[in-house]
Amino acid sequence: MSNDRTRLAKESFVKRPISVDDPCKKISDYYGDLIFDRRKMKEYLDPEIFKSFLECVDKGVALDMKTADGVAAGMKEWAMQHGVTHVTHWFQPLSEVTAEKHDCLIDYDGKGGVIEAFDGRALAQQEPDASSFPSGGIRATFEARGYTAWDPTSPVFIEEDTLCIPTVFISYTGEALDCKTPLKKALKAVSDAALPICRLFDPKVSKVISYLGWEQEYFLVDESLYAARTDLMITGRTLMGHNSSKNQQLGDHYFGAIPPRVAAFMRDLEIAGHKLGIPLKTRHNEAAPNQFELAPIFGDTNLANDQNQIVMNLMNKLARKHGFVVLFHEKPFAGVNGSGKHNNWSLGTDTGTMLLAPGKDPMGNLQFITFFVNVLAAVQRHNGLLKASIASATNAHRLGAHEAPPAIISAFLGNTMTSVLHKLLEVPSDTPIEIAGKEGRKIGLVEIPEIFIDNTDRNRTSPFAFIGNRFEFRAVGAPANCATAMTTLNAAVAEQLLLFKADLDKELAKGKTLQVAVMDTLKPIIARVIDVICFDGNGYTEEWKKEAERRGLDVEDSVPEMFRTFTSEGSVEMFTKTGVYSLKELEARNAVKWETYSKKIQIEASVYVRMAINHILPAAIEYKNSLLETVSKTKEVFGSLDSCKTEVDLTREISALIEDIKAQSDRLKGKANEAEALADEYEKASAYQKVAKACDELRKPLDRLEELVDNRLWPLPKYRELLFIS
Ligand code: ADP
Ligand code: MG
Repeated sequence: MSNDRTRLAKESFVKRPISVDDPCKKISDYYGDLIFDRRKMKEYLDPEIFKSFLECVDKGVALDMKTADGVAAGMKEWAMQHGVTHVTHWFQPLSEVTAEKHDCLIDYDGKGGVIEAFDGRALAQQEPDASSFPSGGIRATFEARGYTAWDPTSPVFIEEDTLCIPTVFISYTGEALDCKTPLKKALKAVSDAALPICRLFDPKVSKVISYLGWEQEYFLVDESLYAARTDLMITGRTLMGHNSSKNQQLGDHYFGAIPPRVAAFMRDLEIAGHKLGIPLKTRHNEAAPNQFELAPIFGDTNLANDQNQIVMNLMNKLARKHGFVVLFHEKPFAGVNGSGKHNNWSLGTDTGTMLLAPGKDPMGNLQFITFFVNVLAAVQRHNGLLKASIASATNAHRLGAHEAPPAIISAFLGNTMTSVLHKLLEVPSDTPIEIAGKEGRKIGLVEIPEIFIDNTDRNRTSPFAFIGNRFEFRAVGAPANCATAMTTLNAAVAEQLLLFKADLDKELAKGKTLQVAVMDTLKPIIARVIDVICFDGNGYTEEWKKEAERRGLDVEDSVPEMFRTFTSEGSVEMFTKTGVYSLKELEARNAVKWETYSKKIQIEASVYVRMAINHILPAAIEYKNSLLETVSKTKEVFGSLDSCKTEVDLTREISALIEDIKAQSDRLKGKANEAEALADEYEKASAYQKVAKACDELRKPLDRLEELVDNRLWPLPKYRELLFIS
């Protein structure tokens, strides 16, 4: 094992041979080695430069060129000690995967040679010719250039020989062309909106931080089998494939012993992640065979999201070294669980108070209830929008598919918080909210347990569940950039906090105490949320769909329709009021979303038809021919077909399936062509939704053939081969 570890570690980190296999080397010895964090800045930067850099990051002071040059000089020195030869601005365009364009550090020295050059200008801003990224029309005109600009709140990191600088990506006219810019705006909006409320409870608070702890689910498949599946390679999921007889029925994979080959990959990944300062903490087998999960310790939402993007890239790269391919698709295999990326989310102050966890005294509890209820109100008002924020062509396979949240956003509170909310409506507003069960405390009318760890029940069917100190937004898809969901959630909460504060001020102006004013403002909100957004039952049932509709929740299950919510009156008002998106940006993003949706289905339809005609039909016809040969020989020898009834029946069924597949493939092509001809992106996406349904229909005869055709002739690795790593 130790040799193996040495080999793997060395292979992965050629540039920096590490000795983490050395039993004396602790994680804390190499943690963060490859990021230019504050500790390194202190060491490599001039103290004055370091001071003005901190003012930029902590107090929002604009970055001047002298500081940028000073930081760049220290960064270059540090990077070159690590064998860095290239630099890139690293950004997150609307394609939802990261982008990078490497520049070598060299420049002419004026004496016929070259020097390593990197200055503040190169660090702070670049203008990549990134015209091919989706922009939803914002960059349609030739003068509409795009810029990347350094995000100093996320540390620069080294990837192999390249210094990667996290950046935002914006157009010449200032519109965001990426996922990071609106996220940063939403984080500022929620901090600004929460701050005056927190200060009523603690005047020392100067900043509110939004936290994200993501849990990344994924599948691993053997790289050689992957290469034999055109559908996996091109679409990221299996478009056909019959269930394996055994899949996850026995529940023996979930939390099971991690297969050694997978464990080696995970170890490699953790080492690489820890060196990049990513606090990877948890790893385990998930419910489906070959499905796994990893999660870091939560952190500031912007940084945590960058880290998730870095980890996904690392996973893609390192899996190959272990002979695997990672699948991030939400539903790579029919009939077993799909993959999500649960977004654990909370708010906290810079004084260390977690705002979605019970407090240490009745006023702390009042502050907790204030934020808790306002989050529920925001989720209620924007439930359709939150659903739109996680919707995509691929996540549509998972939502409502019986192992993931339904396509209705509701909030799970658990028994304790549900009864606390009911109680709060009954008692007078000046009733203190006591801590339950703590020695020496008086027994109160309303009590909250100090810690919830053993107290919160879980509900896997809920898309937005409260778990003691945070909400878990479970509907986010595994391949998604968390930014879209986190931008929407934080912005919606910011809007609600602004509304709440305005009402609270009116109550305070009447001379009420803080406790009474807060409760008088909260009570009507509690009454509203309890009966609408809060639902602790089974979200998978048909009854819930009806009940949710009755409650006025958004039950739309068509993805192209869901996107329209982004430009509804309420959404536009919320996003513009909080300064997160302009109408132009929202419209552009919708155009991109519809376009991406259409393209994904267009690609799948094309792969379906080609695989049906080129892979499956030839195998079926070959088998049919061999059956026919048997039938005709039987007739020749025995003069009757009595002894080959099975062959005759099989031939008939296979012939009918072949006809069906050909006819369906032709129809599918026709439907896709019609959809493609539409000019309007929304209409095109709606037409492609019908194409997706036609694809599902075509799958049925293909999967049936897999059951009938001679196993030796079947041209594709089957689920039972793909899904089990020994
Ligand atoms: P689960 O039991 O839900 O699978 P995991 O341990 O896999 O839990 O992941 C939980 C995630 O929630 C981790 O990333 C953890 O750091 C994060 N988390 C814990 N507390 C908070 C919090 N207050 N705010 C945001 N995220 C949190
Ligand atoms: Mg987990």
